[in-house]
Amino acid sequence: MRDFRADRLDVVIDNRHILKAIDLRVRAGEMHGLIAPTGAGKSTLLRALAGVRPAAGHIRFDGVELSTLSPLERARRIAWLAQSGPVHWPLSIAQIVALSRQPWHEAEALTREKTTRLLDACGLGDLAERRYDTLSGGEKARVLLARALAGEPELLLADEPTAALDLSHQLEVMALLRAHCRRGNAVIVVLHDLRLAGHYCDRLQFLKGGSTLVSGTPPQVITAHWLETAYDIRLREGRDALEAFSLNWRLRERNYPANR
Ligand code: ADP
Ligand code: MG
Repeated sequence: MRDFRADRLDVVIDNRHILKAIDLRVRAGEMHGLIAPTGAGKSTLLRALAGVRPAAGHIRFDGVELSTLSPLERARRIAWLAQSGPVHWPLSIAQIVALSRQPWHEAEALTREKTTRLLDACGLGDLAERRYDTLSGGEKARVLLARALAGEPELLLADEPTAALDLSHQLEVMALLRAHCRRGNAVIVVLHDLRLAGHYCDRLQFLKGGSTLVSGTPPQVITAHWLETAYDIRLREGRDALEAFSLNWRLRERNYPANR
């Protein structure tokens, strides 16, 4: 991919204007963070970008309207990791992750090889034969991310992928998303943790009440002014917001080198 952009997206549900004239652009290799108070419309925006929620406006993938892509092409190019993704079938982890290879119509042996490699890279190799419904909440979240990555999507839309995770697994997930970007793909990720957002994302977009409040690089966006406006809070005088929310530790280089 080269770039993915949305222009003046509007979503109305039950006569309520949920998204208002949202513009968004992400280029190959970039991680774009969506930050907002609960109810601001982040999940609705990701659904619209995934093409599963109708929206007025334009969504273009390398200049081509998303609605003109075939379902197969869309399934190959875009993955959507929903905020809570229930899995109702009694499948093993390996089977769930392998499902994402289906749009590629490849030989079974290749799917198995790719699935095994990905599970190992995600630190889930030991769980490959376990049933999904026997996993902890955090393990389930990581399996769903692995499933999304398994399709090798050029654009990954991830809705709060770190929500159920402890600190080290939050960093692991962010490193996996970064690695996905380094391979020439793009990621749009919803995060509540400003430290993770500021550290890992190239650009951040704050939403409030269905509109974009501000969009820019982390230093442009994580400021006292924008945090106070976004969350209706007061920061203590004299604290530099970016510094206050900075991430001063790194994941050990062993498995996940070079966060940025
Ligand atoms: P966020 O992910 O930022 O917390 P959402 O996108 O889930 O916010 O929701 C934004 C607003 O739209 C909320 O007020 C929510 O209640 C409303 N909303 C979302 N989906 C629906 C729906 N299917 N029917 C009615 N209201 C909805
Ligand atoms: Mg949400």
